[in-house]
Amino acid sequence: MPAPDPAAATYESAIAAVRDIYRELENRPLERHCIRRTACCQFQLTGKIPQLTRGEALVTAKALRASGRKALPPRPDGACPLLDPRTARCLVYEARPFGCRTHFCAAAGGTTPRATVLDLIRRLEEIDRNLSGDGPHPLPQALEDVLATRS
Ligand code: SF4
Repeated sequence: MPAPDPAAATYESAIAAVRDIYRELENRPLERHCIRRTACCQFQLTGKIPQLTRGEALVTAKALRASGRKALPPRPDGACPLLDPRTARCLVYEARPFGCRTHFCAAAGGTTPRATVLDLIRRLEEIDRNLSGDGPHPLPQALEDVLATRS
């Protein structure tokens, strides 16, 4: 039997911790009403890109792999690479990053006040540090980094 991989255990524990944070966020009494219009996924139109900590990137990459993909799909129009051009749906909606859950979309309730989720942000930052991350990166870059090292 192969020896357990300590790095893999660290990653799995980070993934579980990030999922806990997302669950806690969903259970907070915040005014959010995302109906998947995907307007906020059009980076080329909004000029804004979600910033992912390393733990979030691991969760997102795992969901992407579970969809049968090993790399970010190309998105030459500048929209989020996780927005499926065929279905106009997020490929990883249940695992979407924190920023996608708390973003600026007016239809979904506008920006979540930072003070109401600051404790969760701090936990994401701590997970990032534990994974030797160096802070949040734009979604495409954060995912490319993780997909390149955790293939
Ligand atoms: S990860 Fe999903 S919800 Fe977030 S911007 Fe990309 S397509 Fe949209």
